[in-house]
Amino acid sequence: MLPTNRRCKMTETNLVDAAGAVIPAAKLEEFVKKVFRVVGVSEKDAQITARVLVQADWRGIESHGVARLSRYITGIQNGLINPKTKLKLVKETKATAFFDAANGLGQVAGHQAMNYCIKKAKKSGAAWVAVRNSNHYGIAGYYSMLALKHNMIGISMTNSRPLCVPTYSREAIIGTNPISVAAPADREQPFVLDMATSVVPIGKIEVAKRKGASIPLGWAVDKTGQPTTDPAAVLEGGGVLPLGGTAEFSGYKGYGLSVMIDILCGVLTGASFLSLVEKPVDGKPAPANLGHFFGAINIKSFRPLKEFKKTMDLFINILKNSAKAEGCNRIFIAGEKEFEMEESRRKNGIPLDEKTVSSLKDIRNKLGIKFLEF
Ligand code: NDP
Repeated sequence: MLPTNRRCKMTETNLVDAAGAVIPAAKLEEFVKKVFRVVGVSEKDAQITARVLVQADWRGIESHGVARLSRYITGIQNGLINPKTKLKLVKETKATAFFDAANGLGQVAGHQAMNYCIKKAKKSGAAWVAVRNSNHYGIAGYYSMLALKHNMIGISMTNSRPLCVPTYSREAIIGTNPISVAAPADREQPFVLDMATSVVPIGKIEVAKRKGASIPLGWAVDKTGQPTTDPAAVLEGGGVLPLGGTAEFSGYKGYGLSVMIDILCGVLTGASFLSLVEKPVDGKPAPANLGHFFGAINIKSFRPLKEFKKTMDLFINILKNSAKAEGCNRIFIAGEKEFEMEESRRKNGIPLDEKTVSSLKDIRNKLGIKFLEF
């Protein structure tokens, strides 16, 4: 069984198998940047995209890190993603902005849109920015966290291709639509919630399949709509369950959250939504036309910053010092494990599994990049 590894112990996921590798973060980022450069992405945009991907790995979110590099590259090579991301401002008010990403890279669109949102929130107190016609943007937390250094609360969400079944359905027609909220503290690490609205993102099912491991019952269903422990059965016509799992475990709440995000990212923006995301046209793959939605709340519009941050410390400490469940010695705040993982991986390198190493070697050889020894 794939270790869920998220209970009350802070453990480094042991991803380095016999044919895996540990790569210094800076070196991996440089490699990813070079790869994007070779397929026509500008220096600046390649840097942003590489940072979003490698940040996922250094924060321990392997499902959304460099393991996905080949998909973006294939997307660009097949003409499904435009390597030249140019955001067009469609509409703007004092506290809102709406962009069309012209089918560019989701990471670049997200980075620019979130920074625009922060800039607006500095003047207006709070702001919302929406994007349509974009692509997969990776980890939602990258964008919400951009607000932290501006002493704001950041919010980020995206819709995604349909991989998740609505409660009582056996058809995967809703996305795993992630949401992230980041709030700064004073001495404590910021709160960074970054989560799929499915029990797990599809990446975790793929990781289990790659490792030949089974998945916990309640993560997903097979093509008949029955819960299964076989990751292959999920990937072959089944679907992931919404956050909560089956209806008995209140999975309809996750279903509602996912739909809420799709309304903001898909319906409000005019992007694709539900099963229309990445729907083939005449049997051929079509651009994803994803939508993203970002928010920035300037704390000073509500409360003196120092006061807010000190209260956040108190808030976090009350949570962390609450009575521990038997057998558990630590209570975490969302984002805390990821910050610790980041510290360790930035220092010691990023462990990559055999399949990921092999996919990176493949990209390196195909694109003729003379860089990154394994
Ligand atoms: P997890 O289930 O691993 O974690 C969800 C959140 O809960 C994190 O903020 C995590 O923080 C927190 N958390 C986990 N355990 C605890 C604990 N014991 N106490 C307190 N907080 C805890 O993440 P998901 O699998 O749901 O999502 C993984 C990534 O996939 C995210 O980055 C998401 O944005 C991305 N994603 C992207 C999609 C896309 O289409 N672009 C689609 C779906 C997901 P911490 O890890 O620090 O503990």
